[in-house]
Amino acid sequence: MVRSVLNGKIVRLLPGVVLGILAACTGGLRDIPDREPVPAAPARRVVFIGLDGLGAAYLSRADMPVVKRMIREGASSLHVKNVLPTNSWPNWSSLFRGAPPERNGEENFPTIFSVLRDQGRGKRAVFFYEWSGLRDICRDHSADMRDIQTDMAAAAEIAAYIAEEKPDLTVVVFNEPDSTGHSERWGSGAYYAKLRELDGLMGLIEQGVKDGGFYDSTVFVISADHGGILWGHGFNTPRQRNVPLIVYGRGIRKGLVIQSPLGICDIAPTMAVILGLGIPEEWTGRPIMEVFE
Ligand SMILES: [Zn+2]
Repeated sequence: MVRSVLNGKIVRLLPGVVLGILAACTGGLRDIPDREPVPAAPARRVVFIGLDGLGAAYLSRADMPVVKRMIREGASSLHVKNVLPTNSWPNWSSLFRGAPPERNGEENFPTIFSVLRDQGRGKRAVFFYEWSGLRDICRDHSADMRDIQTDMAAAAEIAAYIAEEKPDLTVVVFNEPDSTGHSERWGSGAYYAKLRELDGLMGLIEQGVKDGGFYDSTVFVISADHGGILWGHGFNTPRQRNVPLIVYGRGIRKGLVIQSPLGICDIAPTMAVILGLGIPEEWTGRPIMEVFE
């Protein structure tokens, strides 16, 4: 009763002001992450490591000390929804293009790499990929493209590149544990053994950042394109749809388990904020602001 009278008064007396404030509030909420990413974003570097086929459901039992340390000391979610169908191309493209396949298909659609090139004032990106399909994400040569395999030699090469070239954005996408899942089954002993091996490779890459002398200004982002079940993926089940996200490093909250619903398209905008870049209007994903200290 009181409230309705009060509201009636305000609306009657100051309709234009109230509507104006409402419009400013809703518009402002939507616009803040776009226009003013993060207060005083320092010169930070991002190292993104993608593991093709790492379903979030398999992480709890995985023997991955490097990843688990980053989860403990960073911000994470095991409930990042990917896009359908739960296959690699729709999901890697959505992850790096900040928008789902039905919106991101135009030529020259902005990627995290092209945004860094266009806004980064000389900042540089490198993209280490194993699956050749990923080359299509960087047809514009907005990153230094390097093909790799899932092995120690590749991890050592990546670490050396990082230490010497000091790229602002390093993206590494291993084609495992997907290959092992297809041949041996998701959740098999071989699948978990591959996760342990990948964890060791990630430790080597982390060491490259330390050797480069910029560990303290780097944020690691770890995620995946899809999970799997039995010997495949492509369908809409939790084990195929939920992928992990781990954000760890400079300025990132420690021990945060993110509760809000996240999508794979939120990862590029979050990396853009870390790098101090504006978010293109074409992107539908939102930066995950709660990861920041
Ligand atoms: Zn696959």
